[in-house]
Amino acid sequence: MVRIDIISVLPELIESPFNASIIKRAIEKKIIEVNFHNLKDFASNKRKQVDDYQFGGGSGMVMMIEPIKKCIDLLKSKRSYKEVIYMTPDGNMLNQQIANKLSIDGNLIILCGHYKGVDQRVRDELITMEISIGDYVLSGGELPAAVLCDSIIRLIPGVLGDETSALSDSFQDGMLAPPVYTRPANFEDLEVPKVLLSGNKAKIDEWREEKAEERTKKLRPDIFN
Ligand code: SAH
Repeated sequence: MVRIDIISVLPELIESPFNASIIKRAIEKKIIEVNFHNLKDFASNKRKQVDDYQFGGGSGMVMMIEPIKKCIDLLKSKRSYKEVIYMTPDGNMLNQQIANKLSIDGNLIILCGHYKGVDQRVRDELITMEISIGDYVLSGGELPAAVLCDSIIRLIPGVLGDETSALSDSFQDGMLAPPVYTRPANFEDLEVPKVLLSGNKAKIDEWREEKAEERTKKLRPDIFN
């Protein structure tokens, strides 16, 4: 079983995506285990302080190394981890390849930043991988961590049923997914492509491949090969 430990100052911000649909079922089936850790529980002073002013001056608080190290050390003393990930806008941009790699065996720690981010020494000494979910800045790492977890968890064998197989999704084979249709076959004269109603599996596969290629060339020539 894969175990994911998420460290945050606002764990309540991230819990709900894990309480619904596919991820919830994966947790219930014990395919994965997700734990949330409130950094404030590792603060050493009574005020539960986990951030402080930046050295050198400037606006915005910085998350301190001490509570983060305490939390990571405690987790690592109990089991081994494949990666200790920091969600950050200047990290490696998340893509399907990274999600695939992280979905294969191994426990993960995910650290969510807040305010101005974390003391650089956390990144230098404790973090093994830095991931961004896009070139924009959010106020905390919780939503990015939820995005990362969703992208990973749905790829773990047994999580998706056949009907939602990840293999036919976009990017999995360097292609976008083909268009999909459902009932009714004719809606106000808008017809579903005939081939999809033909029952001819080979013809349907061929059509889907053609459409995936067409779509990728048009919308994402950068990934077409
Ligand atoms: N001062 C930092 C931004 C801090 S934003 C900078 O300019 O780079 C506060 C926190 O939100 C970050 O520590 C990070 O954990 C999270 N965050 C914001 N945008 C993100 C993104 N695009 N991808 C991943 N995490 C992000």
